[in-house]
Amino acid sequence: MGRVSFFRKASLLILAITLVFSAVQLRAEASVYRKSKTEEKKIALTFDDGPSKQNTREILSILEEYGIKATFFVIGENARRDPERIRSIFDAGHELGNHTYTHAYISKISDEALEREIRETENVLVEITGVKPVVFRPPGGYYDDHSIAAVEKMGYKSILWSLDTRDWSMPKTESIVSKVEGRTQGGDILLFHDLEDKRLPTPAALKKIIPYLMENGYEFVTVSELLEGEAI
Ligand SMILES: [Zn+2]
Repeated sequence: MGRVSFFRKASLLILAITLVFSAVQLRAEASVYRKSKTEEKKIALTFDDGPSKQNTREILSILEEYGIKATFFVIGENARRDPERIRSIFDAGHELGNHTYTHAYISKISDEALEREIRETENVLVEITGVKPVVFRPPGGYYDDHSIAAVEKMGYKSILWSLDTRDWSMPKTESIVSKVEGRTQGGDILLFHDLEDKRLPTPAALKKIIPYLMENGYEFVTVSELLEGEAI
């Protein structure tokens, strides 16, 4: 009996150690949001790599036409070059997010470079709008635990996406439309782009996607609104 009890104690101890170890591991996992846990039909449209002249302007006018809000993850150096465009995004009530200053892959640069990339973008946006952004998207979707922890320390939630339109690769408008219409669910974060110097199929696709999703009961909110009060 004494022997059984010893083994039982030993196995309980091992179980306890395993549980503590896995809890520590979970804690160390990068905190990135891919979608919301909401069961409501709320979604967030996000636009990366702008602002640009043509694409951002066209997208803004479509969003205005339907009276909906979105999130723009802008590149700092583009923002510095075109403060007027940033102001028009902000004044229309959309959310501005930080996408680094030079579109740097954050897991591949030093801690100092990462901090500079984020702070410089933040400074440009604060200069133009007076508001510090609170959402960040890692360029290319590349990240590691260390870089995401650093971003979090600077006051940002890191946002990925749950539906990638791959609009930057210039697919046919119809293929973006059917992908979004076929796959969108409540809580989704949709990834689009408003890149410079490219006539993207994005505005034409949005003209079809937005009314379709509205007719199907979807509400469009900013990323911060979508994730409000949610832990990872
Ligand atoms: Zn990007």
